[in-house]
Amino acid sequence: MNEQLPLIVANFKANKNWEEVESWLEVVGPKVSSFAGTIIVCPSSPFLGIAAQSIKSKSLQVKLGSQDLSKFEQGAYTGEIAASQISDIVDYSIIGHSERRQNFAEDEKTLDQKVQNAVSTGISPIFCVQNADVAIPENVKIVAYEPVFAIGTGNPDTPDNAQAVGKKLKSKADYIVLYGGSVSDANIKSFLKEGIVDGALIATNCLDPQKFIKILEVLKS
Ligand code: PEP
Repeated sequence: MNEQLPLIVANFKANKNWEEVESWLEVVGPKVSSFAGTIIVCPSSPFLGIAAQSIKSKSLQVKLGSQDLSKFEQGAYTGEIAASQISDIVDYSIIGHSERRQNFAEDEKTLDQKVQNAVSTGISPIFCVQNADVAIPENVKIVAYEPVFAIGTGNPDTPDNAQAVGKKLKSKADYIVLYGGSVSDANIKSFLKEGIVDGALIATNCLDPQKFIKILEVLKS
């Protein structure tokens, strides 16, 4: 996958029913055609199929990602969503978000299995790390640096530190590096200005489509 940068990921988490996801796509969709980068929207799994249809039928310049996928390839795993079941619907999957590490006890081995399942079915993992020393599985190309203290708190990391972490990550491999944690229209440019951080992962401030559009507009100026 050849991403146009900046790469902006909208993570809805466990928010929005289908009506709200559809309305978000209807409001944001027309505004993204003039955006030079790549926008990836990650709604909850039940809406991936219908969101893919909606994006296709309206020819929106938006890519689709899942918020997670199973460590199992397929089979008797009630409640799981295997990479092979969604690989014709999504291009990306967030893997290793700190909320999954904390609330679902996802460890290094589990996350490696998820990454390899994603890659083997053609899905690009967006692999979250909480600092530059967290293990990154093979075959990952996009890494999101997301310090836990900054997630959903309105207390972002400093751009200098995000860039220092970005540099450290890029010294390990030729990663696309995203920053995530309280990104807003007021601070996004400061994270991207050195060309080390290639994009952002945004949750709170993507939920309101107008706030998200404002972030995209700031990046155009
Ligand atoms: C996140 O949880 O991935 C995130 C970036 O959250 P927020 O934008 O709400 O800080």
